Amino acid sequence: MDQRLAGKVAVITGGTSGIGAATAELFVQQGAKVVFTGRSSEKGNALAAQLGKDALYFAGDVTQEQDIAAAINLACENFGKLDILFNNAGGPTPGGVDDITPAQIQYGVDLLLSSVMLGIKHAIEPLKAAGGGAIINNSSVAGIRYNQGNLLYSAIKAAVTHYTKLAGVELGPLGIRVNAISPGAIATPIFWGGSARANQLSEADNAAKFEKLKQNLAKATPMQVTGLAQDIAEAALFLGSDAGRFVNSHDLVVDGGRTSLFRE
Ligand code: NAD
Repeated sequence: MDQRLAGKVAVITGGTSGIGAATAELFVQQGAKVVFTGRSSEKGNALAAQLGKDALYFAGDVTQEQDIAAAINLACENFGKLDILFNNAGGPTPGGVDDITPAQIQYGVDLLLSSVMLGIKHAIEPLKAAGGGAIINNSSVAGIRYNQGNLLYSAIKAAVTHYTKLAGVELGPLGIRVNAISPGAIATPIFWGGSARANQLSEADNAAKFEKLKQNLAKATPMQVTGLAQDIAEAALFLGSDAGRFVNSHDLVVDGGRTSLFRE
């Protein structure tokens, strides 16, 4: 079968774990050259070694504009251009409705929203130079429904989705499609605080937790199926590839039907 991203160059933020790592792997399998960022150099270097010459890890922080710009520049310098940007990096945003602090709000906005806005900004010129391309923003069903994340996370993800739709209209004339993916509950380390080192558990305890998580998440969908990082990678592949050429300013919900499931 033809590779669906043959000849394309992608930047993926937050590619050292979960959805971003699965997407980096799938994109390379499908013929793309990929620069991916993330916080763990250990994991980033290991994944880059596994993926081979078509993948480069960049230790960039998406809350820092210069790091976002540098990741995109690295793709252009090493692989010649940019065709796809997947603004994926993210994580939980602490803060309750009755005790939220300005620092928590700022952290959430920097991590989840500014990162998307600045990623789009820095991708425009290279995407234009490549004759157009695709930007994909990882949003969430939390931006659609109550009780899929805390209020801060949900409100910011709603903003990510709305910004995506408006940016698609602004950039459409340049041949740049901007779409969001809203994952439902996907079994990734986001649910238990990252790597074994980060959460102080052994690898074995983490593996056991992951299995338990998968069983619990399955119960939250009508199909009783667990959402996996690969399910979101497949959606990103569709939106980033030429198969998605007529899809713009769209929010692709990938949640196994969870947002339509009403439960008291
Ligand atoms: P994950 O914890 O497995 O991976 C998060 C990635 O983002 C890691 O590579 C991490 O290093 C990176 N990251 C975090 N902060 C960063 C920073 N400041 N700079 C650079 N990289 C940073 O989580 P995941 O589930 O794969 O989440 C990926 C995206 O999907 C996030 O935006 C998240 O909000 C979104 N999402 C996840 C789910 C889910 O159920 N897992 C559901 C909806 C949306």
